[in-house]
Amino acid sequence: MNFEQFFEDRLRALKDEGNYRVFADIERKRGSFPVAACHNPDAPEEVAVWCSNDYLGMGQHPKVLEAMHDALDSCGAGAGGTRNISGTNHHHVLLERELADLHGKEAALIFTSGYVSNWATLSTLAGRIPGCIVMSDALNHASMIEGVRHSRCEKHIFKHNDPEDLARRLAVLDPDAPKLIAFESVYSMDGDIAPIKEICDVADEFGAMTYLDEVHAVGLYGPRGGGIAEREGLMDRLTVIEGTLGKAYGVLGGYIAASTALCDFVRSFASGFIFTTALPPAVAAGACASIRHLKESDVERRGQQACVAEVRRRLRLIGITTLENDSHIVPVMVKDPVKCKWISDWLMANHGIYVQPINYPTVPKGTERLRLTPSPVHSPADIDRLVRALSEIWSQCQLARAVA
Ligand SMILES: *Cc1c(COP(=O)(O)O)cnc(C)c1O
Repeated sequence: MNFEQFFEDRLRALKDEGNYRVFADIERKRGSFPVAACHNPDAPEEVAVWCSNDYLGMGQHPKVLEAMHDALDSCGAGAGGTRNISGTNHHHVLLERELADLHGKEAALIFTSGYVSNWATLSTLAGRIPGCIVMSDALNHASMIEGVRHSRCEKHIFKHNDPEDLARRLAVLDPDAPKLIAFESVYSMDGDIAPIKEICDVADEFGAMTYLDEVHAVGLYGPRGGGIAEREGLMDRLTVIEGTLGKAYGVLGGYIAASTALCDFVRSFASGFIFTTALPPAVAAGACASIRHLKESDVERRGQQACVAEVRRRLRLIGITTLENDSHIVPVMVKDPVKCKWISDWLMANHGIYVQPINYPTVPKGTERLRLTPSPVHSPADIDRLVRALSEIWSQCQLARAVA
């Protein structure tokens, strides 16, 4: 086989569909978020980032940076080993305590990313509980899907955010089989929110465990940033709460919070936890500082919510429809992969506005979009520039506008 030819042909097909991924080569500027230097040949030297998952700008927060500098200077660069073999640094232990407290659980366990935490935890739980059946929301993240697949357990997909469909599917299964329901709180692409209480009610009815991915909610919702389950007073009804330290907390890493026995079980059996080097101590210290800060401070959350509301309002005024939802995610639907990429390139080249196009397979074909993530670091002037640029390109492309 001509391997090179094969790779090139497949890439050509991706490009023809408009689904080839091109990374923007940027350097975020601490102190000036959302501004980043841009190294793309066709772009201005500075751009405003409108698609970051550093939702609150915590990646440049002085407390986070100070904690990271301190830990770097006192502990050095890397952890020096896996958690089991010399790699458990006191900063990891402190971080796990902070996370257990955040979610009102007995324990927490950190991983090198949110992806790994989902993959490792689900594959371990579903793979090691004999006869375990997983019920998975139709729009679950790739990391959960891969984890469940790796476990080789029986799996059923229920309709997105539909507790009744879930109950119907559970009702025909062996009542004695152990079951786990895996879902998310805020779905990252449409920004819609799960009916957590209703899903927990169904779980109780059928004696199932519940596994909630709060990756797009931790730091952002609830009085202490514990997520949607905290906001709704439901944290104690979830068997496992999973989250990331790389989005609203602005650093890197993933975790689960659950009972002592469950965390110890995953710690003891999950290959993705055991056989990999622990996070650098400075990363753990930075994440810990970020969580602590957002437990006390509401300023960032309120700033974000105000910016989200303003962007939605301004886009509505000029007839650009965004997908309605109750979260901080503002999807502007383009519904065509080539157009979506083209608009994104145009915004970057002509206005220094960086919004990555979101195409298949991240979203279904025909639902291509620009996913805006307004934050407390976007100023009214940033919003003005964004809205004016979108208005201009909507006219140029003759894209549909709602009649006001
Ligand atoms: C980003 C994401 C993850 C993975 O988290 P990382 O820390 O980025 O690896 C998990 N679940 C969902 C829903 C995500 O969007």
